Amino acid sequence: MSTATARVLSSGLRLPPLPTIRDLVKLYKLQAIKQLSQNFLMDERLTDKIVKCAGDIQDRDIVLEVGPGPGGITRSIIRRQPQRLILVEKDIRFLPTLELLKDCASPLNINIDIHNNDILKFNVEEAVTDLTRRLHLIGNLPFSISTRLLINWFKDLSLRRGAFRRYDTCMTLTFQKEVAERICAPTGHEQRCRLSVMSQIWTRPVMKFLIPGKAFVPKPEVDVGVVKLIPLKTPKTDLPFDLVEKVMRHIFHMRQKYCRRGYATLFPPDNREEVTNELFKLADVKDTLRPFELTLDECLRLATVYSNFINDHPTIANYNFRGPKNLRDISFTM
Ligand code: SAM
Repeated sequence: MSTATARVLSSGLRLPPLPTIRDLVKLYKLQAIKQLSQNFLMDERLTDKIVKCAGDIQDRDIVLEVGPGPGGITRSIIRRQPQRLILVEKDIRFLPTLELLKDCASPLNINIDIHNNDILKFNVEEAVTDLTRRLHLIGNLPFSISTRLLINWFKDLSLRRGAFRRYDTCMTLTFQKEVAERICAPTGHEQRCRLSVMSQIWTRPVMKFLIPGKAFVPKPEVDVGVVKLIPLKTPKTDLPFDLVEKVMRHIFHMRQKYCRRGYATLFPPDNREEVTNELFKLADVKDTLRPFELTLDECLRLATVYSNFINDHPTIANYNFRGPKNLRDISFTM
């Protein structure tokens, strides 16, 4: 093995000599699999910079890394000396390289648990039982699941479950640049969408920096944004997650139309116009704004009046304008 190097760290921590990630990828013939969105980061300065965005990792903290792959970010995390590191990797081919890191880290008193698992199915409550320790979620996420994973995590956050039983679990994650911009987009921004609103109801997302696509192997077609999402101690709403998600999906599915157009599809056609007018009045929202012009507060007022409305008309909660005909036939009187 060539270019084995020992890393002396600012903390004084010295990792035992290790082959470079590039050498490991070659040695184990770890060709990237497109379906698993595999784009590897080989540059240690970049992996260190991502991990630095997570903030202070104290020696009692736990880090969960999503998709460690050959272990570039994993090495940067180890150098920050958490008490425990949980790795969740779907591709079994990476296990030998991760086991190698585990062996190197054990004399440094860093416990590493390697799970060959899908992060979308991974049970964090089983893996992390000690709630006296702070948890950090870090990952150069596979593009194919990043939005789904984030929405799942917001739901967990709203229910204070999974990785979010403590309010201070921060997420430091990579996304396609455009997705990163959407997550952080303020009212009126051209990228403002459902994901912006959902992100900003439960967290404060901060765009940290951009990584050019050419820094990855293989090079993706897009640049990448590193976003830190800091959970809000007090979320902007205590309405049920699924209800908020549904209302935002309807409001934003016709981006260029007046926001009333998408909102109206929450209701069966017969009384749609009448109910929509009434609820916009009750919410005190101008119905000719475009969805991207709505503030977070206006979005939530529209969700609140919808919630009150379905409490009075429970059958409407099941109405699905895209659903089978029998579900579209629900009618009601105001
Ligand atoms: N962390 C490595 C790096 O920065 O070089 C690899 C990042 S690569 C973009 C995404 C990684 O996530 C791959 O290792 C891939 O196998 C893994 N992965 C893909 N889908 C996954 C899933 N559902 N659960 C866990 N890991 C997954």
